[in-house]
Amino acid sequence: MRTLIRCGQLFTGREDDARAGEILVFDERGVLDYVGPAAGSPRRARGDRVIDYSGCFVMPGLIDVHTHLAYGNAKSEEDIDLYCPLEFRTLRGMFFAQKVAAAGFTAICSPGDAGQISLSIRNAIRAGLFDGPRVMAAGRYLTTHQGLTDWYPTWIGAPETSIGKLVSTNAEAVEEIRRQVKDGVDCIKIALDGIQRRENGELVAAFTQEETDIMVGEIHRLGKKAVAHARGREATLYAARAGVDLIFHANHLDGECIAAMLETGSTIAPTLTHPRNTVDFTQPHEPAYLKGRPEHTQREYEIGCVNWKKARAAGVPMLTGTDTGFAVTPYGEWHARELELFVEDLGFMPAVALRAATEVNAGFMTEGGRIGALEPGRAADFVALDASPLTDIRVLQDKSRVRAVYIAGKEIRIPDRAYDPRQVTDFALSNWTELYTRARVAELRQQEPRLAAAE
Ligand SMILES: [Zn+2]
Repeated sequence: MRTLIRCGQLFTGREDDARAGEILVFDERGVLDYVGPAAGSPRRARGDRVIDYSGCFVMPGLIDVHTHLAYGNAKSEEDIDLYCPLEFRTLRGMFFAQKVAAAGFTAICSPGDAGQISLSIRNAIRAGLFDGPRVMAAGRYLTTHQGLTDWYPTWIGAPETSIGKLVSTNAEAVEEIRRQVKDGVDCIKIALDGIQRRENGELVAAFTQEETDIMVGEIHRLGKKAVAHARGREATLYAARAGVDLIFHANHLDGECIAAMLETGSTIAPTLTHPRNTVDFTQPHEPAYLKGRPEHTQREYEIGCVNWKKARAAGVPMLTGTDTGFAVTPYGEWHARELELFVEDLGFMPAVALRAATEVNAGFMTEGGRIGALEPGRAADFVALDASPLTDIRVLQDKSRVRAVYIAGKEIRIPDRAYDPRQVTDFALSNWTELYTRARVAELRQQEPRLAAAE
């Protein structure tokens, strides 16, 4: 039995415009065997089904290469690492992975994870236990005391339940890489810098060039992809020279970094959504606001935009990913904002942003040759929308526009189940964000007469 999909407009992901009046045909394994004009389609057999999306814009399923299934809409680092058992995080991650699929994202990379959370979610979906997106899974970030994920004091280190794994020698790093590969990861993440800066403000790389080369060499020798968190120039340069497949952020890249990327084939996921949401949404009562995070993030974002445009102009592939999994980037909500920001802030045409989130992202994903475009031999992973993102890229963010989501030829119908966010994350112990001195209380009593009246 085959399935024939009538499309209003068909965007295959292989070209910049959509075609009218075409059809998709796929077999019972969910593999496309015809994409093109209805007139030239293979003859219909008895039992073939026909599904009509002739009022819709049909396009390949979207891909987000930066969605952290372990984080649970975290409000703090402690939320990510400490208070929630790995088993609950896995169940929670499965629930949220489904929200991502319902938003039209049929594949994600979950780069950096505690335990075997994204691995288990990937395997459970693959085995048919749950409907959900294709997952490219990672284990814990490899880090040092200068790297992201080593956020606690040295006397605490990175606990076993953390997303980071502290390594202190090349031998330890290689051992961890081999262990993760045995467990079945698709990619391995290196925290190539964090927040430590030199006196001149430059971010310090967490590993040396030589250490980076050894780790990336071993990851590639074992047939896996290497990904890295790198914001500063030094870490971005080390990653690019070592041939890291995908570099997240890279705000401070320069000409030397671009030359190295072009030579080794490194790509960038600038990840615009998380910083833009931080700037646009953080409220004055939030600790992040009180610490000046929105202003700092805005400056880093502006520096990044200038540099990312240079990298793009030089021919470095740009991938879309959001850093979903934080309270400011909840699952299923903002994935397509990245495409809007690619258009708005990096100067992409809408069609080119769509191709970044499908075809270009697929080039990085495991078995990427089977997804990211609609053509014979690839999987029938597609989305039907009742508006055209080529006219307005923002329609992708409106869930009421998503008419259907298919993965491997199967329609994914995820009920929009409500849940209690307070039982899902935010188990950190912080109770107050203010210091109630006598002076502060006196000030509050002035502003807020009800506080005094209540006594
Ligand atoms: Zn991230």
